[in-house]
Amino acid sequence: MKNTENKNNSSPHLPFGDQRTAPWYGKSIISVKQFSKGDLKYIFEVAHEMREMVGRVGTFDLLKGKILANLFYEPSTRTASSFTAAMERLGGSVIPINEVKYSSVAKGESLPDTIRSLECYSDVIVLRHPDLGASQLAAQYARKPIINAGDGIGEHPTQALLDLFTIIVERGPVDGCTVTMLGDLKYGRTVHSLSRLLSLYDVKLNFVSPDILSLPREIISELQEQKIPFQEFTDLDSALPDSDVLYVTRVQKERFEDPQEYEKVRGTYIISKQTLEKAKEDLVLMHPLPRVGEISMDLDDDPRAAYFRQMEYGMYVRMALLAMVLGKA
Ligand code: ASP
Repeated sequence: MKNTENKNNSSPHLPFGDQRTAPWYGKSIISVKQFSKGDLKYIFEVAHEMREMVGRVGTFDLLKGKILANLFYEPSTRTASSFTAAMERLGGSVIPINEVKYSSVAKGESLPDTIRSLECYSDVIVLRHPDLGASQLAAQYARKPIINAGDGIGEHPTQALLDLFTIIVERGPVDGCTVTMLGDLKYGRTVHSLSRLLSLYDVKLNFVSPDILSLPREIISELQEQKIPFQEFTDLDSALPDSDVLYVTRVQKERFEDPQEYEKVRGTYIISKQTLEKAKEDLVLMHPLPRVGEISMDLDDDPRAAYFRQMEYGMYVRMALLAMVLGKA
């Protein structure tokens, strides 16, 4: 009887099988440093399959019976809702904690205790937190996989994965690409994760920012160690013409201790139709969003503007990651 049950649970009709021995089963996703080029190839293959399945059937039961706890200590539109959509499209369900002020966190509960409580009710926890290293800390206490959805100014690994997937879908191979990242490179966690991921490929990187928002020296050293050719600029003019990808970011207002410092750098770069006159015809224009004026809305209809498609790709990548850590891919 037991055997039959197990057999049924393994759902042989499901497209991705049930591989309890899958390498990512039960693992937390904390930093992009965990991924090899082979892992990325695999994740993107699964994401492509997810995209196809969503196009064909919309929702399917790969993660039926599984529960995701979506624990957000910071605001989120895309990450929270795309994880929810990803889980629901895979037939699972979600405990949403988007407003920690209505949870016991407001009573002073510690992160480890909140994690140990939520994992009693769920199979995987997606965590966004203002503190650098919070996901790592949570993973030390958790028995269930933790997925880092942004730890302060640290990393945002799932965003970087979807950014890379976007480059592949929109442009093709990553090798040979010149990627220019612009804006708040100091506090922008998506830039930290993406530059690390890109350093696995044969790419050239340009970093354009005001002096006070340049890429952290730690990441610069990592790029040097990997022998990635890169240049730093304070204006976009010389970096733009050769760029295949322009990755624009928001100045992270919430990270500034002194609001006057923020005022000095906000609005430094605004990408408009006129800016893109000097760009390649097949440039991929990306932004992790939200934008607060860095890309003018009159570019939204330009075929090079990939930022809304980028959001959609994020759902497929997150479906792939959920399936992987829950042993179904
Ligand atoms: N949504 C991204 C993040 O959470 C980018 C941003 O907020 O500017 O890091």
